[in-house]
Amino acid sequence: MICTTLCDNVLMTAQQKKILIVYSGGTIGMRQGPQGYQPETGYLQAQMASIPAFQHPDVPPYEILELQPLLDSANMHPDRWWGLAQAIARHYTDYQGFVVLHGTDTMAYTSSALPFMLQGLNKPVIVTGSQIPLCELRNDAQENLITSLLIAARYPIPEVCLYFGGRLMRGCRTLKLDAQGFQAFASPNYPLLGQVGIDIDIFWERIRPARPESRPRLQPLHHATVGALRLFPGISASVLENMLQPPLQGLVIESYGVGNGPANDPVFLRVLRQASQRGVVLINCTQCVKGSVDQQGYATGQALAETGVVAGGDLTTEAALAKLYYLLSAGYTPDETRRLLREDFCGEISH
Ligand code: ASP
Repeated sequence: MICTTLCDNVLMTAQQKKILIVYSGGTIGMRQGPQGYQPETGYLQAQMASIPAFQHPDVPPYEILELQPLLDSANMHPDRWWGLAQAIARHYTDYQGFVVLHGTDTMAYTSSALPFMLQGLNKPVIVTGSQIPLCELRNDAQENLITSLLIAARYPIPEVCLYFGGRLMRGCRTLKLDAQGFQAFASPNYPLLGQVGIDIDIFWERIRPARPESRPRLQPLHHATVGALRLFPGISASVLENMLQPPLQGLVIESYGVGNGPANDPVFLRVLRQASQRGVVLINCTQCVKGSVDQQGYATGQALAETGVVAGGDLTTEAALAKLYYLLSAGYTPDETRRLLREDFCGEISH
């Protein structure tokens, strides 16, 4: 269960619109302990209170909702995604926008999952974090947090975005590609929604139009058993067969190039076909960082298609997993899920 504490850090005037910082954990608020960096309740708030930049009059008023327990995002579970979505929905009408503070390790997964749970969103939700904690002398935390607050307050972007290292991206298009660098995230299959240098430039033509709905339609994402399997030369049919055992309902197959796999292994193909026939939903995403799956290009792709594997287009693995969780949690049948995987719900796939 998630308990929350809400700290009001700022005095409000009647006209000012507040931002809610939903704090899930991550390096940004961590401190050094005997076993390395760990999150500690109240520590981020204490740091922010002691740093003059956060008291600057141009920083929009904000409140902080700290989720319990604070997580290193390597410990993330879909239940916490649901907790984040519920927190945003519960406080939706009280705030101009939302900033989600999160660890970088699984930030792309959470940024991919939130849009499915918050369809109909018409306020900005900016997910951010940092590679170095706010408490350290050299850090990327202060810039990422202050700029996220400014974007959430000044730009009515009706999307879940990820802001990091000067780049604003559509959340469900992101992946983490640098373990150390300050520009740790990329959106290889969709252009940036904004770029931050001397100015904050928002590229409105790339942003989804606002919906007339006044509130997001909340949809939980956790009642499903899904997996991901990266193909590699020598992968055996028995490894695949073990992975596909019940209760698995959906599997993202990270294939080669434009969607190819080991078509010269009849047992491998038979295992896939049998799983499809039992109702396991199989989706093909490329293990390339950029580009799209087209199962018609090669015989090695067509062989996968013939077993019932759905072509995942330019979905990232992160977004494909979130979409499987979403569709299977919502109770769609395997056939409906296969059809809906190809449809665009929140800008996650190109057509
Ligand atoms: N392990 C940390 C986390 O994901 C890494 C980070 O935040 O940069 O919570």
